[in-house]
Amino acid sequence: MMNNGAPNNSQLSILNYQSLLKKYWGYDDFRGIQREIIESIGAGHDTLGLMPTGGGKSVTFQVPALAMKGVCIVITPLIALMKDQVHHLRQRGVIAAAIYSGMQHDKILTVLENCIMGSTKLLYVSPERLGSELFQTKLRHMQVSFITVDEAHCISQWGYDFRPSYLQIADIRRICPNVPVLALTATATPKVVADICDKLTLNTQLSTLNSFNVFRMSFERKNLTYLVSHAVDKRTELIRLLDGEQGSAIVYVRSRRHAREVAELLTDAGLSATFYHAGLEHAQKDQRQRDWQHDRVRIMVATNAFGMGIDKPDVRIVAHYDCPDSIEAYFQEAGRAGRDGNPARAVLLYNAADEPKLHKRISDTFPEKEYIRKVYDHLAYYYQIATGDGYGVAREFNIDDFSRKFNHFPIRVHAALQILQRAGYLEYTEEQDNQARVRFLVTRDDLYRLRGDSPNEEKVIVALLRNYGGLFADFGFIDESVIASQCGLKSNDVYQTLKVLAMKHVIQFIPRRQVPYVRYLQRREDSEHVSLPPSVYEERLTQYRERIESMLRYAKSQDKCRSRQLLEYFGEEVTKDCGQCDVCQANHSHTTEQAQHQILTLLSDHRRHHITEVLHLGLLKEDLDAALTHLLQEEYITQQDGYLML
Ligand SMILES: [Zn+2]
Repeated sequence: MMNNGAPNNSQLSILNYQSLLKKYWGYDDFRGIQREIIESIGAGHDTLGLMPTGGGKSVTFQVPALAMKGVCIVITPLIALMKDQVHHLRQRGVIAAAIYSGMQHDKILTVLENCIMGSTKLLYVSPERLGSELFQTKLRHMQVSFITVDEAHCISQWGYDFRPSYLQIADIRRICPNVPVLALTATATPKVVADICDKLTLNTQLSTLNSFNVFRMSFERKNLTYLVSHAVDKRTELIRLLDGEQGSAIVYVRSRRHAREVAELLTDAGLSATFYHAGLEHAQKDQRQRDWQHDRVRIMVATNAFGMGIDKPDVRIVAHYDCPDSIEAYFQEAGRAGRDGNPARAVLLYNAADEPKLHKRISDTFPEKEYIRKVYDHLAYYYQIATGDGYGVAREFNIDDFSRKFNHFPIRVHAALQILQRAGYLEYTEEQDNQARVRFLVTRDDLYRLRGDSPNEEKVIVALLRNYGGLFADFGFIDESVIASQCGLKSNDVYQTLKVLAMKHVIQFIPRRQVPYVRYLQRREDSEHVSLPPSVYEERLTQYRERIESMLRYAKSQDKCRSRQLLEYFGEEVTKDCGQCDVCQANHSHTTEQAQHQILTLLSDHRRHHITEVLHLGLLKEDLDAALTHLLQEEYITQQDGYLML
């Protein structure tokens, strides 16, 4: 299906786009497949762009969004990334806004009204918000230029990161039927590509893949060397690896506990390291990320919570201390090394203990159905929801507290909730941003006496009084960044000051944090009626097992170039070995050895042999050169006037 957007859009020439690129981003020209994608979406075609991380994805929707009439709806699952992009666009003078779970109703309303008024060029929306009545009602009144679906692989049930909320994008397309869609992803197997097009296409009568213009950029990274290090003692190997490298590094681990322990291990070894995971306080995460970003700390040890939207170009090593559960995840994380184009390494530390660990993840991710039903029941006890009740109920969910009360392992509870979510019983969001809250514990009069303890405290108190009413009576939501900009302080300074004021019992302060939420999408059932069909359980289990097996094959195989293995997984035909990975290096040293052996055999008659005879042995030039250099250096053979002899 071809969607022709507003006709004036198709008149836009690449020159318009280029001048916008120059004006707002300062670049002279597009790179890679950016131009093709922009022209395609600009002409009103449904478009799919496959670009590796760091391929310049955001320009492909931001530039046409500026060029075209109306507002571009950008659907992306990562709140942090969305805030970051909105911030950067505003700095460039582009009117952009975002709505996401956890935002207050009146704020959302203002943002949506502004979009209807027509000044907003880009509206970022988290997929959970798409289904809300408010959003859908307001959307009908907007002039939409096109819809961008970022991380488009999340719409595919065959993908490694399926998010049910992405399926609501089809509703959005129905509301705006003549608006083209731009789907972008940095990771998709051929099966997933077909599924993305299928799920995003309204008219299922047509052959779906053909309805999309698909542009693919090679995922090959010539400056990135993939290595698998078969290390019995991963700790020693990791220290050796990082000790031999000056530049910035990320070490990925599986658990929060590992993050802390490995960072300690590295610090004890005299290396500059810190750690990061989703369980840290917001300000702590911010601080650590900044320290690493600005090279005050060299090594970041992190769970997969770290990295999305982080754009540090000079990362020299990405090491995986624990084996990821899919090639997709591995490729994404490894790809954060060497964005600046300079040589970088992606190292997977692997040993025999990893295989049983990965297999255990299968049973952790897919607990028995009986267990899932038990969690469903316990959840209802936890919230005291009777059978038949509960529809629409949304509550904060503290997984540790729940697990303690009902004697569960958090990992398996998490898995059970995800399966219940896929089955349509619940919505389970992990990344819900709750704003910080403050109330005064002293009277207004006391406050005047307290003033002047420190300049920062005074500034922050004044800003609180000026911006937020009612804080003497009850908790109110506050925004540290607003206070920061009014006081001329950094957000972290505001946070620290608020903590000091709380310690002095001037205020009560609940820091900003991410709180998981559970929302009942159906009335509570008797658990024996909870249905978990093959599409949410058995089929997914099979796919997960296949992904784990692919990952294990990659880690264990020693006979095919790593880069080729990865690219072929994503459906890219590659004919040349990279020449740098551990497999290529091993092959190379093997062929060099063979070449040495052949030369020595030729010379074993102890006669002089002219160099041309060696050239006729049929060896590859690089193997021959390496073999000759080695034999001469070690004085196994000698050379005189173009002749070789033992
Ligand atoms: Zn290779």
